[in-house]
Amino acid sequence: MKNLLIVLSGPSGVGKGTIVKRLIEKGGYALSISCTTREPRRGEKDGREYFFITKEKFLNMIGGGGFLEYSNHFENYYGTPKEFVEEKLKTCNVLLEIDVDGGLQVKKSYPQALLIMIAPPNKEELKRRLLGRGSESAEKIEKRLSRMEYELAQSGKYDYTVINDDLNAAVVQIENLIKRKKEQIYD
Ligand code: ADP
Ligand code: 5GP
Repeated sequence: MKNLLIVLSGPSGVGKGTIVKRLIEKGGYALSISCTTREPRRGEKDGREYFFITKEKFLNMIGGGGFLEYSNHFENYYGTPKEFVEEKLKTCNVLLEIDVDGGLQVKKSYPQALLIMIAPPNKEELKRRLLGRGSESAEKIEKRLSRMEYELAQSGKYDYTVINDDLNAAVVQIENLIKRKKEQIYD
């Protein structure tokens, strides 16, 4: 198996989803769909962005060892379903779009995973993107921005940090990191 598990983390609104979409369009990548207890946003579909499940079901899955990692923030649980990822890895690279705490948990069980932190060019631009997306209330945006400091402070524990200023440049940089990591592991 020559596929890689790639973790993309970074503050809300930095562009993780946008980058993932680009990589998937290129082929050879699958996105792990996480489970969450948060409410779907407008336009989100169960089984596409997330598996939207109840807290009770989430806790049952934790008990059954069903998550590769999970964490709790913004008063909701988020977790990566283990079986789903292991199945996908048999055929392609798997992208995990998860928070830093989750990424560091993944590294413990998959030391060969590539951990990439996506950072904004600056805080004002991040705020602009979050507002531009128009999916959260002002109060929720403030919570997400305050979480940013924490997320970015953990960058040093990740393998690489990529600044998502120009989108195309960020995607190329990420592809190069993946290529290099594969050469290290498999050549
Ligand atoms: P995340 O998944 O990290 O929360 P999104 O992918 O939803 O972030 O991106 C948030 C917003 O920023 C979206 O409106 C997206 O179109 C925009 N965006 C993403 N990358 C860039 C970029 N490099 N330059 C400008 N806007 C961007
Ligand atoms: P959002 O509510 O904006 O979709 O996601 C909020 C945060 O949860 C983001 O930082 C996102 O990366 C993180 N997240 C999404 N899925 C998972 C997951 O399966 N595990 C962990 N640990 N974090 C996740």
